[in-house]
Amino acid sequence: MTARKILFLVLDGISDRPCPELEGKTPLQSAKKPNLDTFAREGICGIMDTIAPGIRPGSDTAHLALLGYDPNRFYTGRGPLECEGTGIKMHPGMIGFRCNFATLLHDGNISDRRAGRIHDTIALSEAIQRQIDLSKFGVEFTFRSGAGHRAALALKGKGLGHCVSSNDPKKEGVPPLAINAVKQTKKDKKTAAVCNEFIKQANAILSEHPLNKERQRKRLPQANTVLLRGAGEMGVFEPFSQKYGINGSVISAASLIAGIGTALGLKRVHVDGITGSQDSNLFGKILAAQNELRSQDFVLVNIKGADESGHDGLAKQKTAFIEKIDAAIAPLRSLQECIIVICADHSTPCTIKDHSADPVPVIIWGDGVRTDDVVRFDEISCPKGGLNRIPGSSLVPTALDLINRAHKYGA
Ligand code: ZN
Ligand code: ZN
Repeated sequence: MTARKILFLVLDGISDRPCPELEGKTPLQSAKKPNLDTFAREGICGIMDTIAPGIRPGSDTAHLALLGYDPNRFYTGRGPLECEGTGIKMHPGMIGFRCNFATLLHDGNISDRRAGRIHDTIALSEAIQRQIDLSKFGVEFTFRSGAGHRAALALKGKGLGHCVSSNDPKKEGVPPLAINAVKQTKKDKKTAAVCNEFIKQANAILSEHPLNKERQRKRLPQANTVLLRGAGEMGVFEPFSQKYGINGSVISAASLIAGIGTALGLKRVHVDGITGSQDSNLFGKILAAQNELRSQDFVLVNIKGADESGHDGLAKQKTAFIEKIDAAIAPLRSLQECIIVICADHSTPCTIKDHSADPVPVIIWGDGVRTDDVVRFDEISCPKGGLNRIPGSSLVPTALDLINRAHKYGA
């Protein structure tokens, strides 16, 4: 039998290095994970350089590479993809920023870069959208709330560049910076001027907003300014369906990953209770993936929590979260006519609390797969498998071939 569908399960940052807290094992090696190990035993395993050996990927560039979009060509900064992730439809040439609501004191200093980790900023974003006027620059904008204190800003207009600095001072107790043109071109100078005007008008609107008056009464940090960073110009992405001839969905709590999906034309699926953290509704995600596979050819699921533990340097927490993932994916073992790819997007070693270039373990499971001798899903076992060492860009083509949808090269 030949499988007809593809499920990509990307376990964000799950790959690691030996951890002293785990007697020199990696979290994947020390976790009890019967389901992941069964996929390894029944599938073909290998190790993967998401982008290339020695390149430390971000989650964004890694996911582009895993989907077959060379980040060298397609990555234009995080801002435009974050905009997509908040639901702003970005068109080529638009300039995108990721934003934070922050707290500005009377003395002009930032006292909290996350405005007390405020939630529910939609009323603030709507006020900004309604009241800010950038027409003197011939520029239209869209401003949307993201998760928690986050938001995104998109600019549309003639003669806008994307090489501008951020106003985020990256620390508290100092004033926000002015946004400047990095390359001093006319386009970049215009974008910098637009941004500085945007922030000036936003500050006036936010400081008068009833929600901030109420926060003041409750002695909560006000969300009375906006920090802009990650400027980028939206590029041209060949839609996934056109590139591969299959349709697909994306399921991710991380707006950046969801934004990459929608930028490529994947359908975004919302699931209640997903947080991108340890407490995420993993069962809901897996159920949603199974539902999507009824109508879609391809589903990308990103599970983020292990990356968070890696950044926090918590090897035991990471191990426990791997066991939680393992329990949640049990229903996938009975999936019919589906190729399941299980991998990480990069390593996030607890010992370095950041992403590393260490290659990541990968399993391909399903009908037609040539099973190898590997019986465990971890960084040390998988390289002995039949896939050997592959680049991330090979993953979609390999899976497509297994569902018999790869184009024949030559006669
Ligand atoms: Zn990642
Ligand atoms: Zn990370």
